[in-house]
Amino acid sequence: MSSSSNTGAHVIGIDVGGTKILGSVVDPSDWTVNTTIKRPTPVGDALLLSDAIGDVVDELMQTHGSPSAVGVGVPGLVDHDGIFHYGPNVQGVLGLDMTSDLHQRFGLDVMAFNDGTAAAVAEHRLGAAVGHDNAIIVAQGTGIAGGLVVGGSVVTGAHGFAGEPGHMLIAAAPNGSGDGHLCACGRVGCWEAVSSGAGLANIARGRAEKGRGTAIVELAGGVVADIRGEHVAEAMALGDNEAAAVFDEFATWVARGLASLVALLDPSIIVLGGGLTQINDFFIDKVRDRYDSYTVGAGHRPVILIVPAQLGVEAGSIGAALMAHERFS
Ligand SMILES: [Zn+2]
Repeated sequence: MSSSSNTGAHVIGIDVGGTKILGSVVDPSDWTVNTTIKRPTPVGDALLLSDAIGDVVDELMQTHGSPSAVGVGVPGLVDHDGIFHYGPNVQGVLGLDMTSDLHQRFGLDVMAFNDGTAAAVAEHRLGAAVGHDNAIIVAQGTGIAGGLVVGGSVVTGAHGFAGEPGHMLIAAAPNGSGDGHLCACGRVGCWEAVSSGAGLANIARGRAEKGRGTAIVELAGGVVADIRGEHVAEAMALGDNEAAAVFDEFATWVARGLASLVALLDPSIIVLGGGLTQINDFFIDKVRDRYDSYTVGAGHRPVILIVPAQLGVEAGSIGAALMAHERFS
């Protein structure tokens, strides 16, 4: 398995998302990112996904040479051996060995990790959660990636599957407005179905079906089914009141999920990252606003920091690189 013949000074980190594959060349002396590229995630086929990840590695190797290792962050259930069992946002990819294809194609040392766990490692070691031994990292993109730091260590679970808060069933309260939103995993009531990029669109669509949100529907080309999170953000930027109401409901759901995680884990900090936090700056303030009313004993416990991620959308790829580096060195 050794690749000492082509060992480089850098590490490649890959973050496989529901819509894009992000690849970063990272310097292990200080974990700064030299280059990041983004390519679309192919849909519905394990081999296509494996090839696309390989092509991202290949492209980065063309410009930077061979890395010492490759770490791949995967959106879903990936075990300690790098087998990707299931990911709701990359349907059709079941039981894919994330490491052997890349190893065979390039002769590199490769390891795969849960994407949220990778982001948590990066934020805990290098970013917003430095100095916090108990931290929750939630990255909101197409879905929700999560990572848990407990007692100074990142929790991976018995099988590698820990840190999937997006599929906590919190949003199907009787008569609650979260009722009826279908998650990518096929269940109704998942946190992700009301608190991710897809969740933002779900809320807007639900309201549009009741005749609300004309400006949002127009931005989606007049088709309710085509509403995406970006359309809500766009309408919000134009000062649309209905978009503000969508964000309001969205922030409420996000706060409910965070309050549940706090009840379980008692962290000192919550880090919010992922593409979604970037489209709307005031969103974290709104979540902070709501969070207290859902947290058990909120007035009788220390303030828990809720902060934006420091490493931005590259947290997952940096973390995957860091974990792979440590695994193989
Ligand atoms: Zn789900």
